[in-house]
Amino acid sequence: MANKKPEDYVIPLKNIDDLPPMARTMGQMFVNETGSWRNVYPKINHDECIKCGICWQFCPDLSIVENADGFPEIDLVYCKGCGVCVAECPKKCIVMLEEGK
Ligand code: SF4
Ligand code: SF4
Repeated sequence: MANKKPEDYVIPLKNIDDLPPMARTMGQMFVNETGSWRNVYPKINHDECIKCGICWQFCPDLSIVENADGFPEIDLVYCKGCGVCVAECPKKCIVMLEEGK
């Protein structure tokens, strides 16, 4: 689609069947606490977030959850710091920070 805007990506993702098969099968979050692998972590700027759910859709470890206001939050017990969410966010409102900062 020509001239696609970030808002055009908004899709309702309300259950696990909305996830691509790979995201549903590759994640090992229920077996390994993959957060211990991380040396950088993602931080979401909710002022810029449009709640499109793409970060949630692409996270390979299902480490992004929806908070009470409908915004994505990172579950740092399982987030391994891979950066996929940063790469896929259409609004570029997720940044990677060094642990401890
Ligand atoms: S960096 Fe993003 S995509 Fe990767 S595991 Fe953490 S939350 Fe998921
Ligand atoms: S952080 Fe980015 S990808 Fe995730 S819901 Fe917000 S705008 Fe979409």
